[in-house]
Amino acid sequence: MTKMFDLSGRVAVVTGGNGGIGLGIAEALVAHGCAVSIWGRNAEKNTAALARLRKLGDKVQAQVCDVSDRDAAIAATDATLNAFGRIDGCFANAGIGGGGRTAFADRTADDWRRMFAVNLDGVFHAFQPVVRHMIARAGQGDGFGRLVATSSMASLFGTARNEHYAASKAAINSLIQALAVEHARFGITANAILPGWIDTEMTGGLQANDRFMANVMPRIPVRRFGTPEDFAGIAVYLMSRASAYHTADTIVIDGGYSVF
Ligand code: NAP
Repeated sequence: MTKMFDLSGRVAVVTGGNGGIGLGIAEALVAHGCAVSIWGRNAEKNTAALARLRKLGDKVQAQVCDVSDRDAAIAATDATLNAFGRIDGCFANAGIGGGGRTAFADRTADDWRRMFAVNLDGVFHAFQPVVRHMIARAGQGDGFGRLVATSSMASLFGTARNEHYAASKAAINSLIQALAVEHARFGITANAILPGWIDTEMTGGLQANDRFMANVMPRIPVRRFGTPEDFAGIAVYLMSRASAYHTADTIVIDGGYSVF
């Protein structure tokens, strides 16, 4: 059974892998033997994250990449392939939050477009060149691929004053289902992870808001925010052979928040 989760020889990309949930995913993958390339905009955050990852394994590298830029994602894919020779999994995790303070009536077109450019276009930009590589590899008898996108509970329930964020994440769920069906024949699975409230930079402002925390915490059965480490198990499972028959799913990791 332990061998089932041995990721030696596998290579994964984690966008937004220099912090928060993405770094939790990257650390778990590296700890299980996977080579990992983290992509993020901020070179200093990349360097700091690499230092943490190197304590767990030496097959790690980082690319400065804004996933809203299609050419940058293609270049980062090429650089990852040059470094490691193959890509077996792509965790399209990079994303921005919406702030939750602006009424829809006041939403600017720039605000709307920026959200979709990062949260949805960014997934398209990361997945497409990687999928092309996976399909080519399948044609040579080496069919294996894992597409994983970080969605949100907002994709199911929406969030008032954050409708652009919720809509970008709902689109990811549909995208994943379509990719799962289209690419099953190549040994490629596609799944979305839907985190609940997680302790990262993105939720720092909310966690400092006592009124918000007093309202939300009693609604989380596990009685705490999730941590990036709470995504370790699902990341290793989805990257492993164990998940070969698990595709087109939207996997909720929320401490029970959504059913309480
Ligand atoms: P975070 O700590 O703010 O991390 C966001 C990551 O995305 C950073 O590594 C950031 O790196 C990267 N990023 C942002 N814009 C990017 C861009 N244009 N190109 C490349 N990288 C970019 O937030 P997080 O909570 O871990 O968020 C990770 C994912 O989980 C997001 O998709 C978010 O929507 C989702 N999520 C989070 C929660 C939560 O409660 N925290 C709940 C549901 C879903 P750089 O700054 O270096 O670019």
